[in-house]
Amino acid sequence: MGEVTALRGPGRALVPRRVAVLSLHTSPLELPGTGDAGGMNVYVMQTALRLARRGIEVEVFTRATASDLPPVVEAAPGVLVRHVMAGPFEDLRKEELPAQLCAFAAGVLRVEAQREPGYFDLLHSHYWLSGQVGWLAKERMGAPLVHTAHTLAKVKNAAMAEGDTPEPRVRVIGEEQVVAASDRLVANTAFEFDQLVSLYGARPEAVATVPPGVDLDVFVPGDSGQARRRLDVAEDAVVLTFVGRIQPLKAPDVLVRAAARLLAEEPSLRDRLVVLIVGGPSGTGLEQPEALQKLAAELGIGDVVRFLSPRSGPSLAEVYRASDAVAVPSHNESFGLVALEAQACGTPVVAAAVGGLPVAVADGRSGRLVHTHDPSDWARALRAVALAPGAGEELAAGAVRHARRFSWDSTTDELISTYREATSAFGADGARRIGREDRTG
Ligand code: UDP
Repeated sequence: MGEVTALRGPGRALVPRRVAVLSLHTSPLELPGTGDAGGMNVYVMQTALRLARRGIEVEVFTRATASDLPPVVEAAPGVLVRHVMAGPFEDLRKEELPAQLCAFAAGVLRVEAQREPGYFDLLHSHYWLSGQVGWLAKERMGAPLVHTAHTLAKVKNAAMAEGDTPEPRVRVIGEEQVVAASDRLVANTAFEFDQLVSLYGARPEAVATVPPGVDLDVFVPGDSGQARRRLDVAEDAVVLTFVGRIQPLKAPDVLVRAAARLLAEEPSLRDRLVVLIVGGPSGTGLEQPEALQKLAAELGIGDVVRFLSPRSGPSLAEVYRASDAVAVPSHNESFGLVALEAQACGTPVVAAAVGGLPVAVADGRSGRLVHTHDPSDWARALRAVALAPGAGEELAAGAVRHARRFSWDSTTDELISTYREATSAFGADGARRIGREDRTG
């Protein structure tokens, strides 16, 4: 899809010229894979870049988390990231952010008030905290609101890992309000579509299913020998890898336990098996890297498990290329970008059959889905993918084919269609319905 021309509807462009993207709790400029930065950061940045290339300007509003951050950063032509002052810079946990919604909303509205009326044609909020601000900003700006939940409290609470704290009622109520206030909701998969409708009462016609993508320029197959040399991994090693924020919900311990099981079954693997854990601590799992290290030592495989700091782009692609299989053992995953990235590099994925992972992984063709978190089942699946003679090559080719069905370009095209639908749903009388005159004239 090339550059789009703004189509004029009654009073407002059907395809927006400028979108205000709200990403309160985490900045697209942060390195993903640690703290609160993960797939949502990647999603916001990758789609913002592509919207801008299609002629739609994007301003991303995020909370300032350090005193030395400039108020505005131009991430790329047509993409501004605004750091909004809302609460202290550091030491504010995600659970404390609901108390900062008012300050954040004031910061967003202050920027808008300095512009001509109707400057932003549409708001797109990510995660419920931003959705709450989007709800208020929508009414103030007289513009439609599109919302992407990324994760849902009711779903997360139903799939809790040991050591996880349940999501509070305030979040559930907040999400229900955002669902009701949005002109369109974006679901990653048909499964999430159903959850929004059945658990949150969303109107089916207001939910668009838009799969996320993968950067097919960065995540490409390549020289695994070279990748291994750079990571100081032997050519003949069997490499099983976890990539992501280290927290109980992501269950990296399942991979460690499965590796111990594999070694118990096949002691000759001892000198060749390498488990890579790539990422940093996150959320309630702040102690997790240490806990994982302790677990590996208790299982007698402390020497097999290696921890690597978070990394992105080509250096992350190298980790995937160095791996025989990437494990995604999450208890819940709204999609699982890591699974797509690994497959795009030609590495099969063994994933838990939860959330969006059955879409991200084609069972038997690009990897394996496992229906439990039992280490024996995981050991069996990892063996089938990484150790069975010949299986690796076939799955590697299938993995690349499967990943190529997804791209941020198609995600962006579908988002633009959703923006168009949201604008028509909001309609000529949208501003009147929310108690404002249409300010676009
Ligand atoms: N990631 C990264 N560096 C790391 C670990 C993870 O850039 O060291 C990125 C990874 O490439 C992926 C995202 O973080 O794009 C994680 O997204 P995913 O959907 O797998 O999980 P989420 O963080 O959304 O729960």
